[in-house]
Amino acid sequence: MVLRLRNTLTRQVEEISTIEPGVVRMYTCGPTVYRYAHIGNLRTYLMADWIRRALEHHGYRVLHVKNITDVGHMRQEMLETGGDKVILAALAEGKTPAEIAQYYADSFHRDEKKTNIIPAHHFPWATQHVPEMIRIVETLLETGYAYRAGDNIYFDVGKFPEYGKLSGNLQDGLMEGVRSEVDPLKKDSRDFTLWKMAEPGREMKWDSPWGEGFPGWHIECSAMSTKYMGEQLDIHTGGVDNIFPHHEDEIAQSEAAFGKPYVRHWVHGQHLLADGVKMAKSAGNEFILSDLEERGFDPLAFRYLCLTARYRHRMNFTFSALRAAERALTSLRDRVWQWRSLPELAGNLEAIEWSARFWEAVDNDLDMPGALAVTWNMLHSDLEDWYKLDLLLKFDQALGLDLDRTSQGNHLPAGITSQVDRRSFYRRSAQYEIADQIRNNLKSDGYLVGDSQGTTWIRPKTEQELQQGRWQAFSSPKEVESFLDRPAEVDYSWIVTACNYKSDVERCATSFLQWAKGRSAELVVVDNGSTDGTEVWLDELQRSNPRVRVIHFDHTIGDGAAKNAALYQALGTHVIIVDTSVEVVGDVLRPIGAWLEDKSIGIIGPWGLRTDDIHHFHDEVEAGEADAMQAYCIALRRDLLKEVGLMREVFRFYRNLDLDFSFHVKDRGYRIVADGSLPLVRHEHRQWNALGEVERNQLSFQNFKKFFKKWRNRSDLLVCNQASSTSS
Ligand code: AMP
Ligand code: ZN
Repeated sequence: MVLRLRNTLTRQVEEISTIEPGVVRMYTCGPTVYRYAHIGNLRTYLMADWIRRALEHHGYRVLHVKNITDVGHMRQEMLETGGDKVILAALAEGKTPAEIAQYYADSFHRDEKKTNIIPAHHFPWATQHVPEMIRIVETLLETGYAYRAGDNIYFDVGKFPEYGKLSGNLQDGLMEGVRSEVDPLKKDSRDFTLWKMAEPGREMKWDSPWGEGFPGWHIECSAMSTKYMGEQLDIHTGGVDNIFPHHEDEIAQSEAAFGKPYVRHWVHGQHLLADGVKMAKSAGNEFILSDLEERGFDPLAFRYLCLTARYRHRMNFTFSALRAAERALTSLRDRVWQWRSLPELAGNLEAIEWSARFWEAVDNDLDMPGALAVTWNMLHSDLEDWYKLDLLLKFDQALGLDLDRTSQGNHLPAGITSQVDRRSFYRRSAQYEIADQIRNNLKSDGYLVGDSQGTTWIRPKTEQELQQGRWQAFSSPKEVESFLDRPAEVDYSWIVTACNYKSDVERCATSFLQWAKGRSAELVVVDNGSTDGTEVWLDELQRSNPRVRVIHFDHTIGDGAAKNAALYQALGTHVIIVDTSVEVVGDVLRPIGAWLEDKSIGIIGPWGLRTDDIHHFHDEVEAGEADAMQAYCIALRRDLLKEVGLMREVFRFYRNLDLDFSFHVKDRGYRIVADGSLPLVRHEHRQWNALGEVERNQLSFQNFKKFFKKWRNRSDLLVCNQASSTSS
């Protein structure tokens, strides 16, 4: 049997064939090391790992190279966006680019180890292969495939008629939008940079026949794959975002320079999504492996989760799916624990058939979900246990869940094993009560005890099992029940969404509780995926104070969704949505209640905004009519929500969501009124201050577009155009 994979180049599922019999040369586009690899990147490396394991099972020797990009992206992304905050901070601390790269490369290697990815044979670093890149550029210049224009050496796409064969991007200018500035000296807009001359002051630069400069991004993979594996490769892997331009350009360079087909099989993994959208830092839905570990997950549970979707399909990541994956993994491990001391049996035909079914799935374009299904069916069959164990461990050489090691590696303390022996003694002498008592004690000490076929086994509980007594955490706002149709139970709901910054959350919550004494009021907090102890503090607060309700999320959901979760659950006649940077310094509820008795008012709050053109909301209004109320404090009657609707959840980042919500309220004919005398104080907004300039602008702009698109033509709603009501 042979492994079959879909080849992006031919758009067919094909049997893997190699240039040299028995040897597979496989290249994987590796990490960019000025930031952590996120779990989406890991999914792509896992795909390559499963390919490698399958090929090795079939007897191939796999030569695997995975590059470390420590230069190319840094230039492209960093310089175009004005710099990454993390790297700028590190540079400011006096770290060198090399130290930063080493730090993130170490972290990447640790992540691969934790997810049991077999290390590549070579991890070449881009900066250490600049002479090899220069040599290819020289060849391309000599053969007329490249030209110099100003400070750039470009690849001349017009000279390579097959350009576009991988991605299907054939037309000139199709991907023009990718780069904002287009060099007028380029012959064809598709031409891409092979080498760029260093501008004055640049640190990362190398000598070349054309003066000091630095390489384009794509050339690194052509140069390094050639150096370690020759001019032709059998398999090249990456994520789908690599297809264009990266891999298209790699093909053009390598085939033009060496005059032969570059790669036989191109294999691309689909993206990992979170909350249904592509994982990205700016969307706030990017997770790294340590985010999972911080929540008590075993990194191998993530590996199991990735087995449940085919590599060519997008996969949506949620913590609830990860939890289910970890339970399944634990259940596989338990079987190994139970069966490992069973006596070996002789060969069995049925076992061979299960094995054939398993490999048929793997070979079928890496159908790992199918292979998992075979595994579970086999375990649920009436095969004898020893065969099940034997097959499970053999399958695991392909799955890579490390079942053998994880079940061996746990050494139990002597005190625990002696308890197990005592329990066995009592069981044998039919003193089940004492035996059960011992079992319960072991359980509360963090161990699980099981009995099967006359033997007793014990293992430490997993982190997830230990946490089962913890609070319930939601994965999606859809899981939170809405109380909007219930009658109010208190006069005021003070609503806060909190994600870390514990001292701010404490200040906001306790100052409210202090000034709410004697009033009919509740505090509703959405813990939006805190990990710094805020979540524990909030849980204690809730347990010690019946006026407090906390809704935990297991990760950070968007701001609109988080606020809605709190609004669903609020039971006050009046709801006051407050930012954690706000502190209560006096009796704030009574005046808010008084204002909201005026049914013409939709929103009251201390910090209003006005605009003349819907573009600029510069004027802060401290008294009287406003066009919008800032999110620091927005108070309204709960009833109003049924009429105007909740927050729009497309706003993942908080900024401008307040404008949008305010306009919905105005659109229903309600006034927005500012009262700067409300006893509230605004402290530093740490979430905002923690963002870099570029991120701030990017996130704010994205949200402003959403707001503007909806309200651009509604200047009729503005205070300045409603002369009759402009009084305070
Ligand atoms: P980078 O560090 O950005 O060069 O990405 C490393 C690898 O991860 C590349 O092969 C990308 O195509 C892949 N990749 C990037 N984002 C995702 C994602 N969300 N899901 C899966 N793979 C990804
Ligand atoms: Zn690459």
